[in-house]
Amino acid sequence: MHNNIENNLASYALKSKDSKGREYKEEIPKLRTEFQRDRERIIHSTAFRRLEYKTQVFVNHEGDMYRTRLTHTIEVAQISRAASRALMLNEDLTEAISLAHDLGHTPFGHAGQDILNKCMKDFGGFEHNIQSLRVIEKLENKYASFSGLNLCFETREGILKKCSKTRAKDLGEVGRRFIDKKQSSLEAQLTNVCDEIAYNNHDIQDGVKAKKIFIEQLETLPIFFNQMKIVLKKYPKLSGSKIINETVRLIINLLINDLIRNSNENIINKKIINSDDVRNCDSLVIGFSDEIKMLNMELKRFLYSNLYKHPDVIKMTDQANLVIENLFSAYMNDIKLIPNDYIQYNLLKINSGFKERVICDYIAGMTDRFAQLEYTKIFNERS
Ligand code: MG
Repeated sequence: MHNNIENNLASYALKSKDSKGREYKEEIPKLRTEFQRDRERIIHSTAFRRLEYKTQVFVNHEGDMYRTRLTHTIEVAQISRAASRALMLNEDLTEAISLAHDLGHTPFGHAGQDILNKCMKDFGGFEHNIQSLRVIEKLENKYASFSGLNLCFETREGILKKCSKTRAKDLGEVGRRFIDKKQSSLEAQLTNVCDEIAYNNHDIQDGVKAKKIFIEQLETLPIFFNQMKIVLKKYPKLSGSKIINETVRLIINLLINDLIRNSNENIINKKIINSDDVRNCDSLVIGFSDEIKMLNMELKRFLYSNLYKHPDVIKMTDQANLVIENLFSAYMNDIKLIPNDYIQYNLLKINSGFKERVICDYIAGMTDRFAQLEYTKIFNERS
């Protein structure tokens, strides 16, 4: 019966029945599709719950109204589902990839990733996107007959957004497309763009709210200025944050409408009939028109130099370095500081020379506040 759910999808959408399946064979679900099952497993994972207390741009204790990794993830899922439905793609697969795309993020956002990568430089490094895959393939520990969530190939492949050729070789089938120069599904391509639409726009709102960027600066951006002009023409007396919110709404609409129009054109021009055509295409199918691509790039550059490199945001880097570097060396010196059940679960890895990776996984899984607490606990006791 569940196959009916996917009857209305476009011919090039990825359907559950065409999935390459799961690593460990399981019974076919009766009431839902395989990709629905993936989505639901992700929501029930511990890594998903922990996103609530992980930094997006602003650390959790800076205030309750900013985005967290979790609310960012939900916004990505919302935008990508809407776009997916408009393109008649598989909404369930799109949503599953969206909900899992950031599961591998460390505490303290990108600063946390960079320092953990430095700690791991002689032991294979650390990259949050590859870690997202690792979380769902190996680290989630709740099912009786396998480690990880045993998700469908297409969901796992969709999560792996970028990857070097050397790294791809270690990842097996799921990294194959980076070696063969093939494309991921339209659903995966769409999620990547919607991730960007989500964070560019919510970072404008959060940045202004936190008084790190100002409307006068934003007005220098054509994409912002033009949409704000439309807002103020309709509501001449509008003031304060409502101007920002209404303008951001229009920007998101502009981006999504362009994305859908341009992607549909690409589908026709590239003669895409089925999901194999997508895979064999020489370039991405889902994307903005050249004009919008340029405007969006300006917005990204603006946020990079004015928000992500803002001295107050950079300050978090020092905290991340202090906490993560010290936790890493503390665990290296005395692994018993890590809870025993985690050690037992990883005993084989520890005893076969992968102690650093086990510690890295443990730290990467922490929320901001847990990392901070652990640090205080270990280092206060010592002093
Ligand atoms: Mg993201």
